[in-house]
Amino acid sequence: MIDSSPAFIGLGANLGDPLATLAAARAELARLPRTVLRRFSPLYRSAPIDATGPDFINAVALVDTELSAPALLAELQRIEATFGRLRPYRNAPRTLDLDLLLYGDERIDTPQLTVPHPRLHRRAFVLRPLSDVAPDAVVPGLGRVDALLDGVADQPIERLSP
Ligand code: ADP
Ligand code: MG
Repeated sequence: MIDSSPAFIGLGANLGDPLATLAAARAELARLPRTVLRRFSPLYRSAPIDATGPDFINAVALVDTELSAPALLAELQRIEATFGRLRPYRNAPRTLDLDLLLYGDERIDTPQLTVPHPRLHRRAFVLRPLSDVAPDAVVPGLGRVDALLDGVADQPIERLSP
């Protein structure tokens, strides 16, 4: 891997069979071009925030990738599409949501892509699995992941796998 960047990807699902969806999505991430899947967090279950429908299952993946951040996002959106995601309205229940949380230490702000993901530091279902994978990861502008956990300690969330 020449010139690769570490990238963290947040996975979420709350429709259909979310456990099967996350397992299949993990396999898709492992097959991404010019990308190596390094780590995959335990699974977490949480009630929807600002959304409707059944509980969410969430996880975080760490990849090393030679893809640019926009190219990686395009791959994530392609995977989402293969899982039949529909977006009838904002925060609608979704079959599979893949978010680019962090891309190296880059800060990106374009109409298509904001990195770090703007809500990651406010969501236990992102920070908890992210801290399992990389407690010492730094969110540019906000600091270490493990230090951000205190801010979401009040959000109920259940770890499903060790
Ligand atoms: P949510 O913010 O709840 O994940 P969506 O997945 O529906 O909502 O948002 C998708 C849109 O967000 C896409 O059009 C994409 O271009 C944009 N977007 C901006 N930044 C990111 C990011 N870091 N990861 C994923 N999508 C992003
Ligand atoms: Mg998304």
